Amino acid sequence: MKKKVLATVLASMMVFSLAACAPKAAAPAPAPTATEEKKDATTETPTEAPTVGVLIYKYDDTYISTVRNALETALNGKAEVIMQDGKGDQATQNDQLDVLIEKGVNVLCVNMVDAKAASGVVEKAKAAGIPTVFFNREPDAEVVKSYDKAVFIGTNAADAGKMQGDIIKDLFDKNPAYDINGDGKVQYVMFQGEPDNPEAIARTKYSVDQAVADGVQMDQVGETQVCNWDTEQAQKAMEAMLAANEGKIELVIANNDGMAIGCIAALTNIGYNVEGGDKFVPVVGVDATDAAKDAIAKGTMSATVLQDGEAMGNAIAQVALNAAAGADFLEGTSYEFDESGVAVRIPYAPYTGE
Ligand code: CA
Repeated sequence: MKKKVLATVLASMMVFSLAACAPKAAAPAPAPTATEEKKDATTETPTEAPTVGVLIYKYDDTYISTVRNALETALNGKAEVIMQDGKGDQATQNDQLDVLIEKGVNVLCVNMVDAKAASGVVEKAKAAGIPTVFFNREPDAEVVKSYDKAVFIGTNAADAGKMQGDIIKDLFDKNPAYDINGDGKVQYVMFQGEPDNPEAIARTKYSVDQAVADGVQMDQVGETQVCNWDTEQAQKAMEAMLAANEGKIELVIANNDGMAIGCIAALTNIGYNVEGGDKFVPVVGVDATDAAKDAIAKGTMSATVLQDGEAMGNAIAQVALNAAAGADFLEGTSYEFDESGVAVRIPYAPYTGE
């Protein structure tokens, strides 16, 4: 349904050749002479790989580890990479930023520890004239817009919900028995992260909207359960839901895996979703946490939604190489800016353990 943004080899190669004429090559270029100004394109300039400075908010983060591994792989042979671990401390990251600027990197890729501190990064990068690719932890759009050489690469909250909707469609197509009462509709319960959190609201809304758009008839059981992303709160709420509606719930949708796991615990307590058991209510979450992956592997949970770290790393690499080469951020890539004009959104990916 959603077209996945794929890095093309062609784009990378193009970027690579552009990098060869980067105006900010690290090595000092000899002063131009009259002979060099002749229009002789046959003489190959020795390739100067750009230097990419990468600041990571902390290495000890499962998702971000995937991103940086993909980024390193994508830059391998195309750039020199200097990567730093901010260890979850903004002051540390600020120092690392100073060092990278001092080293004269050609482009900065910044995963902010504190997204609110991004204006300080922009200020320094701007003063040094270094293009900056923010990723994952999103600075205020105005901050990104304040520097014409800044861009943001992240995800889109609505996408996680839409992906859940597509998963629901697929689950019920493949498993007609999930429609316990056989009415052709999916009786579902919804577990929301927080009442006013835009991410939570978007996931709740778009999961159902997308399933409906895919042709699934959705029928909510009870009120939306707001459980603050929390496993225990979700378990208690699910226990209450089951006490009132056992046998009438055909699907659990949770804004995150933490709550999904709590719902599964409540189900397991009354004999549902037991490994190898025959009573089962599909549960769909978001995040692809280890607990969720484990539950999916055991068959006690149906699916989750994964932030596609590999796609993110590839996107950062392409955009950064363009920037280092003095080209437009998205030149020769398949990426597009969203309505802000400064952000690229990488789609989520379904995770069903298959
Ligand atoms: Ca039904």
